[in-house]
Amino acid sequence: MNNNKVKWAANVRKVTPYVPGEQPEESGRIKLNTNENPYPPSPKVFERHQEVDISSFSLYPELSAASLVRKLAAYHGISEREVFVGVGSDDVLSMSFLTFFNSDKPILFPDITYSFYPVWADVYRIPYECQSLRDDFSIDAADYRKENGGVVIANPNAPTSIGLAASEVEEIIQANPDVVVIVDEAYVDFGGETVLPLIHKYDNLLVVRTYSKSRSMAGLRIGYAMGNPLLIQALNDVKESVNSYTMNTESILLGAASLDDEEYFRQRLEMIIKTRERVKEALEELGFAVEPSQTNFLFVAHKDISAKTIFSKLKEKHIYVRYFDKERINNFLRVTIGTDEQMDLFLAAVREIVTA
Ligand SMILES: *Cc1c(COP(=O)(O)O)cnc(C)c1O
Repeated sequence: MNNNKVKWAANVRKVTPYVPGEQPEESGRIKLNTNENPYPPSPKVFERHQEVDISSFSLYPELSAASLVRKLAAYHGISEREVFVGVGSDDVLSMSFLTFFNSDKPILFPDITYSFYPVWADVYRIPYECQSLRDDFSIDAADYRKENGGVVIANPNAPTSIGLAASEVEEIIQANPDVVVIVDEAYVDFGGETVLPLIHKYDNLLVVRTYSKSRSMAGLRIGYAMGNPLLIQALNDVKESVNSYTMNTESILLGAASLDDEEYFRQRLEMIIKTRERVKEALEELGFAVEPSQTNFLFVAHKDISAKTIFSKLKEKHIYVRYFDKERINNFLRVTIGTDEQMDLFLAAVREIVTA
């Protein structure tokens, strides 16, 4: 809000919004810039969609998405009282910031991580202090042993793609019994180590997951958190003080259907991981340094050509990757793993650019 001409400008909440990757409309483009899954959701989701009773849309959805919560609890072998569902993990994380980070002390998160964290902190007036990743972009658990108002860690981290061992995440949880530690496991299905079993050991741990990456359902907006029943109760209380019915009827139904097809889920994860490792090798041969990824994307830097140049040249060829104009990482590109066909076209384009 820069418009100082209006008399009410001083009363407006000032925010600098999060900037997501572009959603280009052009046909034939290759979109490797928002870490979406290149494969469709499970056939079980298609089937359930056919059966949706559209006349039921005249009614409000289930309160607290109860049937999806029940299904997720059974899937993960935990209690329904340990699960909270929201409109994508962005909604879940935003509600978690609002609920748990209500201290005057700063919350802690890495200097290079999901760029939505500082945005939520700002909009909710939560003080924060970034902890520098090591030079190799790894998280040093010892940095989270200071007084704070809460901790949030993406593991594996984004956009670095690097995972932290569960034992080191546990160190952070254990060192902070007086605050809530949020572990954002958006990418964990692609090879990271989860700390989910630790929700029964630590009452201050909240594990957040999403359907947007590994479950090919970014468009339905489904995310969830798992933790001690008291944490879940606190989240529900705040959420129901903002907007009771956030999850729509169709997302609740189709979210449950996705969990009925473990084989398809595992198969697609394997395909993406296999493609990732192949693309990593090919990029290394083309002169890129590639971080060890436990996600569905690669974080890469070329030895000679700047990331910005490669980004622009790829865009001219209608191939979209993500570039962050931010200190420490402004010579890196984040490349989402697409299908083998998409990645072959991507590699051919990159080869042309770096050998020109
Ligand atoms: C993609 C992403 C999210 C948000 O995903 P939703 O689509 O809102 O579920 C959260 N955290 C990280 C680290 C992500 O990369």
